[in-house]
Amino acid sequence: MKYVDEFRSLALANKLLAEIRRTVTRPWVIMEVCGGQTHSIVKYGLDQLLPPEIELVHGPGCPVCVTSLESIDRAHALARRPGVIFCSFGDMLRVPGSSGDLFQVKAQGGDVRVVYSPLDCLKVARENPGKQVVFFAIGFETTAPANAMSVWQARALGIGNYSILVSHVTVPPAMTCILESPGNRVQAFLGAGHVCAVMGWEEYEPLAARYRVPIVVTGFEPLDLLEGILMAARQLEDGRHEVENQYARAVVRGGNPEARRTIARVFEPCDRAWRGIGVIPASGYRLREEFAAYDAARIFEIEGIVSREPEACISGLVLQGARRPLDCPAFGTSCTPETPLGATMVSAEGACAAYYNYGRRRGADSQSAAPRLVSAPGVAETKVEASLDPAGTGACATE
Ligand code: SF4
Repeated sequence: MKYVDEFRSLALANKLLAEIRRTVTRPWVIMEVCGGQTHSIVKYGLDQLLPPEIELVHGPGCPVCVTSLESIDRAHALARRPGVIFCSFGDMLRVPGSSGDLFQVKAQGGDVRVVYSPLDCLKVARENPGKQVVFFAIGFETTAPANAMSVWQARALGIGNYSILVSHVTVPPAMTCILESPGNRVQAFLGAGHVCAVMGWEEYEPLAARYRVPIVVTGFEPLDLLEGILMAARQLEDGRHEVENQYARAVVRGGNPEARRTIARVFEPCDRAWRGIGVIPASGYRLREEFAAYDAARIFEIEGIVSREPEACISGLVLQGARRPLDCPAFGTSCTPETPLGATMVSAEGACAAYYNYGRRRGADSQSAAPRLVSAPGVAETKVEASLDPAGTGACATE
């Protein structure tokens, strides 16, 4: 655990915070793209330690949160079918569809199973030759290689009763969508380190140039995030708009070539609906024609499902950084992790769940209250001590 502890060092955090304060001269809005980064920022109170000039807004990088309601409803419809074994990562089981979640489908008799890898499904398929095994393939570029590999392997091994329900999304089109939205306030991005570990950052370079926006590929630990913010702030103050890499211990410019090849062999780009946002052109993956026999959407003819988001939920605006969880009237009242109305309250990486789980409450610990934590000498010091893990207990979750 020593390696992780070093990325939570109180002394280094204070140095980075001091450097950020020295750097910024005017207000800047920076978006962290990834839900794992949002989780760390809220958990460690990093947003409340920053100088008031830096506003962090939370992006659409939680894979569970952005999986469209329609995709979830289709998954539920499939999981209810007799003869289907529906496999999913555990975090999708509590995500609400239009009527209930996968736990309820399971309680009503659906054969819903949690797997830790899509490759586990191939074993399930072999053990159950009389059934159809379907895996719910969601997520960003990070999960796509393993999901693609499961299809590749199924074909190689001659497993004919396995398919995937694809709802993959990709990051750069979502960033483009945010930058082109009329009310956009985002001036710099912290790129998702794990996505770039797979894809590299070549795709971000045209984005940075076209929209004149700094993008810093950033990790997930407190020091990663503070350093990423510092790098972004320096670019903003200097008037630069480059792609920089804070997460050099995990990311290289070209990403992971083998993982990228695996994705490209099995998937191709397609338009994709994002929960709460709508359809973003060329923002998803679908199976290539040659893998149609492994495409659950084609095998089971589940088109035509019409879904409607709960009217009270503003998660689409939260996912675009246009609103904060505390702006939602349902936050902490009719919407809690026990009774989630929207996906951003269900997933551990969702902004609403992070705010709720780490004690943010309206009128108390909101972002607007943050300056008081850094305005008085010594207060920020105390907060850092409370937020980080100087004792090295390793009590903090990592992404
Ligand atoms: S608090 Fe609940 S209802 Fe409000 S935006 Fe978040 S998930 Fe949606």
